[in-house]
Amino acid sequence: MMLPVANRFVAGEGPAEALEHVRQLNDRNVKAIVNLLGEHYDDREAADADAREYRELVEDIARSDLDATVSVKPSQIGLDLGEDVFRENLEGIVETAADRGVFVWIDMEDHTTTDATLDAYEEFARKHWSGERARSSSDRWTDGGVGVCVQANLKRTRRDVERLADVPGKVRFVKGAYDEPAEIAYKGKDAVNREYEALLEYAFEQFDGGIAIGSHDPAMIDRAIELHEEHGTDFEIQMLMGVRNDAQFELAEEYEVYQYVPYGDRWMSYFYRRAMERKENLWFAVRAVLGR
Ligand code: FAD
Repeated sequence: MMLPVANRFVAGEGPAEALEHVRQLNDRNVKAIVNLLGEHYDDREAADADAREYRELVEDIARSDLDATVSVKPSQIGLDLGEDVFRENLEGIVETAADRGVFVWIDMEDHTTTDATLDAYEEFARKHWSGERARSSSDRWTDGGVGVCVQANLKRTRRDVERLADVPGKVRFVKGAYDEPAEIAYKGKDAVNREYEALLEYAFEQFDGGIAIGSHDPAMIDRAIELHEEHGTDFEIQMLMGVRNDAQFELAEEYEVYQYVPYGDRWMSYFYRRAMERKENLWFAVRAVLGR
């Protein structure tokens, strides 16, 4: 059973609780990115089971008429077992989602997975948008589709973003959650922030939409708004459940805001990461446990 204190960052153990949380977000104009917690499976059954749950989740979202997308981790659907396993499972999810008009995000994991993730994204995004569904440019951003995450802390990302500029999908820009080797990564907050801003400048100039700001950083969000005003390029803001919730609702009065909503019985390690990453979160957890 999930500890009540984890409710701030995790919607619940099952899809019904996650979708109930989404309904409450939608009532306040915030859309959702639903994520089933899980990663690094080295057993095919576990990878296939999560892929199956994602397909069912997509069906539930479509049936419930909620404003929600899903986000999946490559290693959760088999990348550690082989690129073929990952692609087969991803294809099943993307095809089901395409039929139901639900958008699929692919999270980005550590640098050893970048090529496989971007290659799969590019193939599925082109395939998905190359047919009937790409009826008009506005449909491209709402009616199903695929998106991928890129990480500003990796030096290769600038080149990757140039490659992605003409792929008909969405790109989520994040600073990067993995501790990468210094030869391939920018180290230190300032260097990563500079690169993040440079990537946004490139994207707002060169992309024709589909930019997602996956950050809680007020400075980066303000910069994205400035760039949007300068270039007119569409964008959305994405934040995690339980992080700057008030800001999410305020921003949603003017901009498109998505909340990343994790759920599932593997909530403990995710909750631990959130609690440990900032002292405010840790104090919140301690106070909740002490009942104050
Ligand atoms: P930071 O650089 O951590 O902080 C900058 C400023 O933001 C702080 O000074 C503060 O003002 C504000 N802030 C940040 N956190 C808080 C908080 N808890 N409470 C109050 N203020 C805060 N990483 C990946 O590697 N792969 C992914 O697929 C991925 N997907 C993501 C999806 C979403 C929707 C989001 C939001 C993040 C994702 N990340 C992913 C994580 C990301 O890479 C960063 O590790 C994480 O977002 C922290 O960076 P930041 O830009 O939010 O702000």
